[in-house]
Amino acid sequence: MRRARVWSRPAVFVAVLALYGVTWGFRTLPASVRVQPPAATYHWYKGNTHTHTLNSDGDSTPDDVVRWYREHGYRFLVLSDHNFVTSVDGLNALHGADEQFLVIKGEEVSDRLEDKPVHINGLDVSGKVDPQRGRTIVDVTQRNIDAIRKAGGVPHVNHPNYEWAISGDDLQRLERVKLFEVYNGHHKVNNLGGGGVPGMEEVWDRLLSNGRVMYGVADDDAHVFKQPGNPDVPGPGRAWVVVRAERLAPRSIVDALERGDFYASTGVELTDYQVTDKTITIAIKEQPSSKYRVQFIGAKGRLLKEATSSPATYAFTGDEKYVRAKILESNGRVAWTQPVIR
Ligand SMILES: [Zn+2]
Ligand SMILES: [Zn+2]
Repeated sequence: MRRARVWSRPAVFVAVLALYGVTWGFRTLPASVRVQPPAATYHWYKGNTHTHTLNSDGDSTPDDVVRWYREHGYRFLVLSDHNFVTSVDGLNALHGADEQFLVIKGEEVSDRLEDKPVHINGLDVSGKVDPQRGRTIVDVTQRNIDAIRKAGGVPHVNHPNYEWAISGDDLQRLERVKLFEVYNGHHKVNNLGGGGVPGMEEVWDRLLSNGRVMYGVADDDAHVFKQPGNPDVPGPGRAWVVVRAERLAPRSIVDALERGDFYASTGVELTDYQVTDKTITIAIKEQPSSKYRVQFIGAKGRLLKEATSSPATYAFTGDEKYVRAKILESNGRVAWTQPVIR
């Protein structure tokens, strides 16, 4: 999904004004709106925000890890070793290319409270952030989020259900963080919940229903590149984000993530995604042997509409608190769009 053009509200406003000018005469309009600026062109970039190398507990060098993602059609990669920031200058000199591929600095700030792991990714941090410690799970998490912000990075809360460490109530109480992993590709992180603990998607709907706006990231958390095809090790290529940004540069990408301008995926690809004041439209890049469902989900996780053909459209009724979409492929692959707040 590249080079799709979605008109922002100001752009639509300007376009409508320009049309008005053409139809009814420019003399009725102030000078400032007569010239229509070129609409910003956005591109879609597939990337992974969570990956390990030999600089922590991965099995491959940064060079090999970056090569894997570049050769598998990704456009950007964040290297996020535990408590270590890998320099990306040499990697970008070797593998990067303008508007083709970019390596972004990162760190998985890896803290704990007693036996509970608290891992927060810092995307595009300026330097290493040390684990901050704290007295409660919320305290530890918040202190690390704030330290990542102080280092100029964008935080995302990793695998909340790993070791059942960070609850939905904990997430509800956090501040200055917009991103969390709705899906982490590691095979032991309990994305779906169980035993009375909600899965991450259910937690997401609880947060949104309570007015806590968060955006769901999907990523690999890959550690093992030398056992391709083994589902019992955390390998690459299982989950990613597709980000709508003006250009392939670190700030452009992380700012788009923080705006919720992306979708998360475990294998479903979209060809179009548009939101206007009235509708959401989703078009799927369909695999010939697969079938799809598009679920539009609102407050408290309620199914507002299910569509079975692409493109799928949802028309806002006006009383939704939020609307997000989940696209399900017939073999279990999924994509999640970010909530549109109403
Ligand atoms: Zn982790
Ligand atoms: Zn990790």
